[in-house]
Amino acid sequence: MNDMRSDILKEIQDEKEREKGLQSIRQARYYNKNKQRLSVNRDKKANALSQRNIVVRNKQQLIDIMGGKCLDCSKSFPISVYDFHHVNPEEKESTIRFGWKWERILEESKKCVLLCANCHRIRHINNRAA
Ligand SMILES: [Zn+2]
Repeated sequence: MNDMRSDILKEIQDEKEREKGLQSIRQARYYNKNKQRLSVNRDKKANALSQRNIVVRNKQQLIDIMGGKCLDCSKSFPISVYDFHHVNPEEKESTIRFGWKWERILEESKKCVLLCANCHRIRHINNRAA
């Protein structure tokens, strides 16, 4: 009786080992078949991540240079609240894109003041009324 039980246990154990082996063969095959696609996806993800980091770093840097406070209400805010308002719309080449080269960001920012989103909106309402 004990012998039979240990035979069954051994069989179960062997079956588990076989399944493990098959699984790692399947994984290796899947990887080899999709190697190129998998590594391209990984590169894309890494690039998107570092591009996002650059954008955030550039915006934060410009906010710091421009005093870190809204010009109109003098309050400080999280980075995403800040806008760069073109004082003279005729000089505006483009909304600042923080993926641009730093020199271009600086150049465009010379035509801008730092505002929070709320004060920015209020300025545009007032500009329209004027
Ligand atoms: Zn404000």
